[in-house]
Amino acid sequence: MANAYKCDHDILTANDDGKRKGPVKRIYIHTFEGRDLDATAMARYQLSPAAGGSYHMVIDAKGMTARENDDEFIPWSAGWTANRDGIHISLAGQAAFSRDTWLSRDKQMGKLADIVAAYCRAYGVPAVYRKAGELKAGKWGISTHAEAAIAWRETDHTDPGRNFPMDWLVDQVNRRINPVDIPGAPLPKVGPTSGAKYPSLIDNRELRLSEYIRFIDEKVTRIFDELYPEGKDMSANALYTGMQGDAYPSYVDDSKSFTLDQYVRLIDFKVDAIRKGMGV
Ligand SMILES: [Zn+2]
Repeated sequence: MANAYKCDHDILTANDDGKRKGPVKRIYIHTFEGRDLDATAMARYQLSPAAGGSYHMVIDAKGMTARENDDEFIPWSAGWTANRDGIHISLAGQAAFSRDTWLSRDKQMGKLADIVAAYCRAYGVPAVYRKAGELKAGKWGISTHAEAAIAWRETDHTDPGRNFPMDWLVDQVNRRINPVDIPGAPLPKVGPTSGAKYPSLIDNRELRLSEYIRFIDEKVTRIFDELYPEGKDMSANALYTGMQGDAYPSYVDDSKSFTLDQYVRLIDFKVDAIRKGMGV
């Protein structure tokens, strides 16, 4: 698979542990520390094995980017576990920066939001900030080196720092992922527990539309998995195009969330595959 984001410069390092075997579950944010270097200087520094580290990409204060590892490679960023389960992005800057300092670096932060949104879309990572406990529980999402360090205790780093505006980042990523969102407009407030209830034809329960759709997805997925234990190729990018509204956790795998239009498309894809598999 091609890289989900094309950087301004490609300065690929051999500081890696080969190709990742599992899926990209998370996107981790780091800071480079020291004085502000430009993107090419950061990447060139990490060409040397003696540097002892690497990322997938770095972003400098002007918003220029350099790639150090292709997406499918395991960088030397945040310890064994996080290196293998995520995409690592490092910002020129320091964990000691204030919130205002980060927000004033608008070219760098805007580029970070663009890149994180591209990875959420490409790999189906929900645009949700995950703290250490959720990482340990297997949740997918956006996180930091600091939270990975608390979760798995494989490093002791605290970047990108306690003042880093994760709330701002997650909001900006959501605005980029949802193309119908109008900048500055309030986010939709229709949560997973809102909406009218309708009586079920199966038993006496009353369920919301969002619940019916997720139950149907779960039932269809059971049959689909039975028929195709190895899965079936699906264009992941198509699934992340034109998403609308809120995401709801899947009843099949609650570490994943999808919007209702995504569930409908997943159900359509699986029912079609089941129909073909049954020869009808
Ligand atoms: Zn780090």
